[in-house]
Order: sequence, then C-alpha cells, then structure tokens
Amino acid sequence: MPEEKLAPPRATKNVRNSLGLEAQLDFPPVFNGIDYLVSVVDHLQPDTGGTPRDIKYAVLHLQAAAEVLLKARLVREHWSLVFRDPGTATHKSFLQASFESCTTTTAVQRLRNIAGLAISEKDASALKDLAETRNALQHYGLTHNARAVEARAATVLDFLLRFLAEEPLVPALSEDEEEAWAHAAEADLDKVRDGVLAIQSFVTRRMNRLRGNELKGAEDRTVYCLECQQPALVLDDHGGVCHFCPIEWSASDLLTVYRFTDDRDAPGHDCPNCSCPTLIERMSFADGKETLYCTSCRARPVPADLGSCNGCGRYWPWDTAHPDTGQILCLECQERIRREESS
Ligand SMILES: [Zn+2]
Ligand SMILES: [Zn+2]
Ligand SMILES: [Zn+2]
Repeated sequence: MPEEKLAPPRATKNVRNSLGLEAQLDFPPVFNGIDYLVSVVDHLQPDTGGTPRDIKYAVLHLQAAAEVLLKARLVREHWSLVFRDPGTATHKSFLQASFESCTTTTAVQRLRNIAGLAISEKDASALKDLAETRNALQHYGLTHNARAVEARAATVLDFLLRFLAEEPLVPALSEDEEEAWAHAAEADLDKVRDGVLAIQSFVTRRMNRLRGNELKGAEDRTVYCLECQQPALVLDDHGGVCHFCPIEWSASDLLTVYRFTDDRDAPGHDCPNCSCPTLIERMSFADGKETLYCTSCRARPVPADLGSCNGCGRYWPWDTAHPDTGQILCLECQERIRREESS
C-alpha cells in the first residue's frame, strides 16, 4: 500500500457551508482517515461483513486510518516529527511529501513523549498489535482468527473515535470553515460510531452468551485471551481453549505468549509447587484474584505468599522462612548447602 501523504498539494473536499457557499477544505489526510474508518466498520459488520476478505481490508484500512490520524496530530505539533529521522527533515521534502516517515509505533511514542498526549498502555498496545497484524497479513495472509481480529479492531476504532473528538487534527479554521468541516466530517463520523456500536454489541452479546454457557462457573480457571482480549480462555490440563476466538492453546503456546522474558528457552519462572520452569506472572483471571499460574501443575500461587530464595532467587513461600534469620531457602538450595557443609 502506498505511503499516506501528509503534505500538500492534494485533492480537496467540496462541502456547502451554512451560507450555502461552496467551500473547499484542504485537509484530506483527516478526511482520508475518516473515510478509511467508514470502510473498516462496513467490513466488520457482524451481519454483512466478517469474511476473510472483509477482515483483510478491515485490518489494512484500520492501520491506514491510525497512521494518517496519528500523523496528522504529529504534524500539528511540528511537521518534522513525521519524519523517520526528524534530524534530517527539511521543509522542502515535507512539502513535496518525499521523505521516509516514522512508523505508527514511533508516532504513538512521539505523541506521548513530545506532544504530551495521555495515550493509555492499553490503547498503545492495541495500536502496536494492529500494526503487527497488518504486517503479518501482508506477508503471510491472515494468521489470526477472524473473531479475534474483530474484537481487537473494536478497541482501536474506539480509541480513534476518541482521538478524533479530543485532538486538534486540522489547522485553525475560520468560523465558516469550522462549520463546513464539522458538517462534512460529522455524517461520516456518525456512520463510524454506529458501526463501532454494532461491533461492540456483537462482542458483548457473544460474551454474555458464553458467560451463560461455556464459561459458567469456570471464573477461577478463565483468563483474558491475548488474542481477542476477552475473558474467555478456559485453562485445562493441555493448555486451554478460548471460547470467544475460538482457539485451542497448548501449554507451550501459553508460555510463549504470556512469557515474562524474551528468552525462549526459559519463558516461565521455576514453580515453587512442582519445580517446572512454567510459572507465569502476567495472567489476568476472570475471578479478579491476582495470582500467578503454573501451566504444569496448574497451581495459582498468591504473590503475597511468595518471597524469593536467598540462594537462587526463585519464588519460594514466605512461610518457610527461618524463624530467627527470616531467610528463605528453597529445597534445592538447602540440599546444596548440606552437601557443601558435609564435604
Ligand atoms: Zn480469544
Ligand atoms: Zn507447577
Ligand atoms: Zn534456591
């Protein structure tokens, strides 16, 4: 897909303002962004959309919308910020739109760090996921489940609608221009808002149905699925099944996706219960209790009950601490010390 151009010259959108005069609005990046959003909700409508082809265009257009809208806001801060390397930016290349622009993830970083925008972790990570899904889609075709993509897209759509409402994306306008702009954009934005509501209510209806059936009484075994971001992944002996996606997860899939380090050989902590290196920290359970989870023995240790072994640093229960010194030693370290002392 060609890079979205952010600088003039470009096409304009003709609108009639309140005085009946034809006004030409010259900020197509934002119109383009909104136009992409209209296409996204069309492709994702639960009743009419949702085919693999729909999902493909929904992801491509959602990413394009995010890119133009985030960058339009960056340009309002300073035009050089949309360059991959602002240090080499020249106004001439900006006006000619002949430059390498920054990635969406960098745009989010700059909006947070330089423009001081309060973009939440959740929104930033949804935008990053979207960019990754777009890239995977372009190189390998659709590798994600359609339902999961739909649920995730709803998060990004929701963010972009708030972003459009809260952020100054277009240059300062005269009163007439302001009105004409609002008039032109509002109809499209209404369409997007209705579309997002339909997608969100589809997600809600589906989750409600699942809560009454597959997920009933399983809250203490159910976690948020990182694929669809719904509390619908029920853990079992083999790993788990997300009923929203629906996807089966093997225990090693869970470890890889929820791992606490980037070290693929040691994705989990050593479990104090079974000693396997399969203890995961970052699982969020549907019952709201903050615990860790071991994919081997399926124990859910409570963080407050765990200290770390003074010998090797692994998680080990506080209640085994030495009554006088307060030292915690795991069984292996106790064994090792005994051997060292007797030799
Ligand atoms: Zn899922
Ligand atoms: Zn274990
Ligand atoms: Zn130890």
